[in-house]
Amino acid sequence: MRETRNVAWDGRLEAIKGRDTGRYVTTAAAVAPACAACQGPLQANDPLSLSVDISESTAPDGTEYVTFRDYVCHRHCSSPSLTMHKAPWRPPALTPLAARLILIQRAGPGNPKTIIPTLAYTQVPVVSFRDPGGELTSALVSVLLSHGFQLALSPDYYSILEQATDVEGECSMTVTSDGLISLNVAAETIYSKQLYPMKPTDTGWLKEADRGSVLVIAGDNLVITERLLDLAPAAAMGTLVIGKVPVRS
Ligand SMILES: [Zn+2]
Repeated sequence: MRETRNVAWDGRLEAIKGRDTGRYVTTAAAVAPACAACQGPLQANDPLSLSVDISESTAPDGTEYVTFRDYVCHRHCSSPSLTMHKAPWRPPALTPLAARLILIQRAGPGNPKTIIPTLAYTQVPVVSFRDPGGELTSALVSVLLSHGFQLALSPDYYSILEQATDVEGECSMTVTSDGLISLNVAAETIYSKQLYPMKPTDTGWLKEADRGSVLVIAGDNLVITERLLDLAPAAAMGTLVIGKVPVRS
């Protein structure tokens, strides 16, 4: 058993995650909503255990996919563990998590403000694939980077707004007149959600999106709950990507 800060983990994990293991462990603990065993809250300095279930499967094109499912528990609820298994290929069942927000950018004091409709987006569990060299690469992050998104190193909204540029080409956001929004990457819709133009929380966002583009903040390890959006774990893991996506109706 190894320990990073207050989190105990199975030492075999290091052979898989390499140099990033410590950061992976602390990120898993940071993003865990509650104890996976008793569902109780996780306090900042509680002794915790990380259990990781790794499933490997090979796609028809020969790509080897690796899915990590992490379970963070109070140490008195569960000991750290690591399980690995080969699974027959099927496209991973991904749960999208998203949040809409409005960011305001101002070039300087007294300058006019620009309103930026924003979509934060992630998928769970995290799916990686193995490069020919053996390194693990995030599937979502690499798809977005190959379609014009940029890596964001800081979780700070000010830096993100400064850095974000237009995503050219095959990414778009579709917003229909009845409020259905879809994020499309190449030919695939990776997220869609029905909003309601008459609902006060949706009206403003839809109106701003209608002006032409939406800032998309995406990647792995974004913490998105009903009350919280935390980009820090994603930035720390190097899995935060951003881009301004054109809106089509
Ligand atoms: Zn517990």
